Amino acid sequence: MIKLSPSILQAVSKPARYTGGEVNAVCKDLDKIACKFALSMPDVYEVGMSNLGLKILYEILNKRNDTAAERVYTPWPDMEEKMRQNNIPLYTLESFTELGKFDFVGFTLQYELSYTNILNMLDLAGISILSKERKNYEPFIVGGGPCVYNVEPIADFFDFFIIGEGEEVINEVVTEFITWDKETKTHDRQELLHRLAAIRGIYVPSFYRAEYNEKGVFKELVPLFPDIPKVIKKRVIKNMDDIPSIEKPIVPYINIVHDRLMLELFRGCSRGCRFCQAGIEYRPVRERRRETLYALAKKMIDNTGYDEMSLTSLSSADYSCLPVLIENLIDEYAGEKMNFSLPSLRIDSFSIDIAHKLQTTRKSGLTFAPEAGTQRLRDVINKGVTEADLLRACAAAFEHGWKTVKLYFMMGLPTETDEDLIGIAELAEKVVDLYKKVKSRRDVKVTVSVSCFVPKPYTPFQWFGQNSKEEFERKQRLLKANIKNKAIHFNYHDASTSILEGIISRGDRRLAKVIYLAYKKGAKFDGWSEMFNFKTWMQAFEEIGVEPNQYNLRTRDVTEKLPWDYTTPGVRKEFLLSEYKKAAAEELTPDCRRSKCIGCGICQELGVDIVDWKGNNDDDISRRDN
Ligand code: SF4
Repeated sequence: MIKLSPSILQAVSKPARYTGGEVNAVCKDLDKIACKFALSMPDVYEVGMSNLGLKILYEILNKRNDTAAERVYTPWPDMEEKMRQNNIPLYTLESFTELGKFDFVGFTLQYELSYTNILNMLDLAGISILSKERKNYEPFIVGGGPCVYNVEPIADFFDFFIIGEGEEVINEVVTEFITWDKETKTHDRQELLHRLAAIRGIYVPSFYRAEYNEKGVFKELVPLFPDIPKVIKKRVIKNMDDIPSIEKPIVPYINIVHDRLMLELFRGCSRGCRFCQAGIEYRPVRERRRETLYALAKKMIDNTGYDEMSLTSLSSADYSCLPVLIENLIDEYAGEKMNFSLPSLRIDSFSIDIAHKLQTTRKSGLTFAPEAGTQRLRDVINKGVTEADLLRACAAAFEHGWKTVKLYFMMGLPTETDEDLIGIAELAEKVVDLYKKVKSRRDVKVTVSVSCFVPKPYTPFQWFGQNSKEEFERKQRLLKANIKNKAIHFNYHDASTSILEGIISRGDRRLAKVIYLAYKKGAKFDGWSEMFNFKTWMQAFEEIGVEPNQYNLRTRDVTEKLPWDYTTPGVRKEFLLSEYKKAAAEELTPDCRRSKCIGCGICQELGVDIVDWKGNNDDDISRRDN
């Protein structure tokens, strides 16, 4: 057990990041446990503690008597320095046990710019960074989460990955481990990896060899054993009411990024925005019953004392029973000053009515995401909203008393022209004018926030060449010059982080050496603008001899094999290609949820159905007949 001296905690910022002991943290006697599982998000405590997936897995694993799940996050550099100076290895927050003593260390992969933190954490724990160098006594390093649909750039660092939703498969992994642990005398890690590779949804990268053609372009991933699947399909939960969810979330002592309860209404989104990876990854839509949600809400409120709950999902306003659910929750907790909030709003008056009912969003202003400045480009990305929709929603918001609106856009989308960019400024101007018309006042604030588009695997834009850093910067200057109204605030990010994200997200195994060298040169917390150093990364590319532009700037031939073709959410490539062509033709594709199936193939491939509760009783369940 690690003992921290008070002098160390006194010398670092936010020491509560490192002391554990929070309400609902689960401490078990590790000597009596068959499987010890450390769960991590490779970021600082406040970010990691806000992750929904880790909270769910923590409770599922700790419900087992034979297993203990504990948490570990990335120490901030001031704490890392103290730990290295004092030879303190990375440890878990529940039992202060060093990470190297666990059977598994599981990382949730939320964004590519957290990868150097993983290497740093393994190093700080004294665990071999490369999977091929790991000894039998070292933990198995496992990855899961939204980035698993292309893990090739980090394949060399992990023993295995869980592709898809983890609630069921995590138990299968633990059970297999406990059996192997009892049965085997040698504790040969290869033997367990073979057993795990037979579980649906498990990808063991060392069991495959990557091949490249004479031009250095990725050619194929070849299985090294006959009993290894050629393609690994994601795991998916068929019935969201059947799986355990969060009941006793840990209550932190310090403010965390999402410092509230999270009630997951449903998984998936079928709106079909063509830039959106999550929209494909989490298909099909599967709603929870209202009764399930009430019961979960009650348990979480009773077990924590939180006074705020976020009704989360990819597009929460699409939950089919939302008005009734909210009304009942507000009635039920009327005397307890509970606040309920929605993390995102649709661009329609329905959402404004809901937000008005909830009141809480009033504090911070309303956020809408038109994503593009002109109707033409919104059609390219299949956003499915018009300027009239946005102005109607804003008018409804202003009438209800809001005077702050945030508008999210992207630049660098396929087919984008300068007119599309100037359209962003014009749209924001129209929102300002609308406020004056509705309220006869001028005290409105419109924030225009524009990110740089990163094409992602398993989207219709997976073949598209990303804009260069110089092009993004030119576009940022152009838009800035076209925003003249003082009521409009323009936010944009440094393009270089999006460039690196673009390189890694569609990279192959050759990037592992670059990531490792960048880490060795001091790259960490790359997702934090104050810590990010683009030069370090470019030097690493140069020294390793890998050309970064081939990964992000190059438009791929649609016949090319892609490094991520082997870990799939189940979508048909032909569907993505037809969506790519429809984008170029500015054609829309309808939402498949209540119209007919539009053929992405996921339901058929994985044997799962849309679950859409339109009303209050069993008769109203809508399950698509594919
Ligand atoms: S298979 Fe059809 S119904 Fe199922 S998610 Fe895809 S488009 Fe929608």
